[in-house]
Amino acid sequence: MKLDSDSTVSTSSASNEGGVSASPDFAGPTIPSIPAPPPRLSPSGAGTFNQCPRRWKFRYIDRLEDPPGEDALAGSFAHRVLELLMQRRPAQRTVDEARLIARTEWPETEAMSDYQALGHNEEESRLFRWKAWAAIEGLWRLEDPAAVDVRATEQDVEAELAGVPFRGIVDRLEEEGDGMIVTDYKSGKAPSPRFRRSRLDQVLLYAAAVEASTGEMPVRARLLYLGQRTVGMDVNRREIEAVTEKLAGTWADIHTACADDEFEPRTGPLCGWCPYVSMCPQGTAEVAKRADSKADREAELLAMAS
Ligand code: SF4
Repeated sequence: MKLDSDSTVSTSSASNEGGVSASPDFAGPTIPSIPAPPPRLSPSGAGTFNQCPRRWKFRYIDRLEDPPGEDALAGSFAHRVLELLMQRRPAQRTVDEARLIARTEWPETEAMSDYQALGHNEEESRLFRWKAWAAIEGLWRLEDPAAVDVRATEQDVEAELAGVPFRGIVDRLEEEGDGMIVTDYKSGKAPSPRFRRSRLDQVLLYAAAVEASTGEMPVRARLLYLGQRTVGMDVNRREIEAVTEKLAGTWADIHTACADDEFEPRTGPLCGWCPYVSMCPQGTAEVAKRADSKADREAELLAMAS
C-alpha cells in the first residue's frame, strides 16, 4: 500500500503549564520556536500545501491524524491486490488470480484500525468489497495485465529535483518497445479533459525522480483510472522542467510559511471534507456559509415548485 513519504520535525516546545517560568533568572527572554520544514517533499505533501497551507500544517507540522475515508481505504486495498498480481508471472495475471489474492489479503485490511473505525455492518462490508473489486477488475478494461513487461512495483524513488529533496512511491515501472513507462493506478473518478494535464504532474515528478536516480528518462507517464480510462503523455525535458520548477516554488513557499510561522487557511468546498475543520475558525465559517446558501437555494426551489 502507498505510504505517505513525508516526515516532519517540529521544534515547537510544549506549553509551560501554569505560566511559571522554568528558565533560571539569568536565561533571559525565551526565543519563540518556529516550525521546522520537513526533510523532504512528496507529491501528496506538495498537493496538500497548495490546496491549503493551514491543513498542511495540521498534518505535517502538528502531525495530527488524517484518517483515510472509505474510498481511500477501498483504493488502498485495490492497489495492494494489483501490486501482488503484477508481481506474478505474466500468464498468472488473470481475473481468477486477482480474486484469490483479494480473498487472501482481505482479512488484513478488515483488521486494520482505520477500517474498523468505519463501523461497517455486514451489508456495508459487502458493498465496500464490491467497490474495491470493481476497481481491481477495472484494470482489464484498460489493458491486458499479462502483456505488461513489469520492471518494478511500489518503487521507492528519492532524488533531489530542482533543489528539492523529493520522495515518492511509484505504483509500477514497465518496459515498452521504446523505453520505460511510469504508471500510477487511480481508483477515484477520472478527470474531465480540462483537468487531465494537471493530474499528470504527480507521475511526471516520478519520471523526473526516476531519471535523477537511474540516469534513464522514462518515455511516458500515465494514470490508469481503473475501470474508466488511461490518462497519459509523453515525457519530455520541457515538461520535466515545468513540474520540477513548480515543486521548487512550493518548497520555497513551505520554507517561508515555516519561517514566518504563518499558514494561510485557504477556504473552499474542500473544507467540508477537511479532518481539521473543527480546529479552523475560517473553515468552520466556510462550511456554515455553504450550508446556509444550500438551504436558501432549496427553500427557493420549494417556493417555486409550490
Ligand atoms: S477547514 Fe478549510 S481552511 Fe481550514 S484547514 Fe481545512 S481546508 Fe484549510
